[in-house]
Amino acid sequence: MRIFDPHIHMTSRTTDDYTAMYEAGVRALVEPSFWLGQPRTSPRSFYDYFDSLLGWEPFRAAQHGIAHHCTIALNPKEAGDPRCVPVLDELPRYLVKDGVVAVGEIGYDSMTPAEDTALAAQLQLAADHGLPALVHTPHRDKAAGLRRTLDVLGESDLPPERVVLDHLNEATVDEAASSGCWMGFSIYPDTKMDEIRMVRLLRLHGTDRVLVNSAADWGRSDPLKTRAVGDAMLDAGFGDDEVDKVLWRNPVAFYGQSGRLDLETAAGCGPATHEGNSILRGGN
Ligand SMILES: [Zn+2]
Repeated sequence: MRIFDPHIHMTSRTTDDYTAMYEAGVRALVEPSFWLGQPRTSPRSFYDYFDSLLGWEPFRAAQHGIAHHCTIALNPKEAGDPRCVPVLDELPRYLVKDGVVAVGEIGYDSMTPAEDTALAAQLQLAADHGLPALVHTPHRDKAAGLRRTLDVLGESDLPPERVVLDHLNEATVDEAASSGCWMGFSIYPDTKMDEIRMVRLLRLHGTDRVLVNSAADWGRSDPLKTRAVGDAMLDAGFGDDEVDKVLWRNPVAFYGQSGRLDLETAAGCGPATHEGNSILRGGN
């Protein structure tokens, strides 16, 4: 099983995680930029972080046979903080870089006017740079958050096929599906979506425009949840081709819209070079 985790924060994970992910079949991932767990004190704090997402972390991933790309943005939790907002002016110089495959994570946290402004500005940056956008839906008041997100998207220049709405669940999937956007589901150990509910949703809604991620970070989370979904799909009677579509071809198609996915270079130097390359090229 070859796996592309389209949303995982490797900065907060260990080398043991990289090893276990490789063994589980993970050959590629996207690391969205987010907050640091405590407030930044200046926009400069973003620059070191972005540089590490573009330099150090891809190097670390490559040592484990995994291709690493990232998304760059002012995250929703800091979108209203005057110490952070000036980073918006600096984003364009990062959005032109090869390792950046989307603008993200953007979206709503508390649904404030400042978050409206940051979301609209960054959707425009995505449109201007020909990049997709990774849009986080809020963990509280999900339905209202999604509706407001779709309103702002409707006013933007970014077409729905370039947007993934992330952290969806049973309450938000129908509206997300009819929007024409890609649908992201984060699978957690004991909150939000789990692999059994995910399989149920795949049965109801099919596999088109669906991305499954672990969203693992430094909270209670599990970087192998993508694999757990693949196994649960097989147990439930889905075929290998459908598992490959959800866990590999869909994320490749979504982030491939950036024109910047490079799945050979990094993954080619990993612990199992030959196997790594044949998995990337294989059709199943
Ligand atoms: Zn995240």
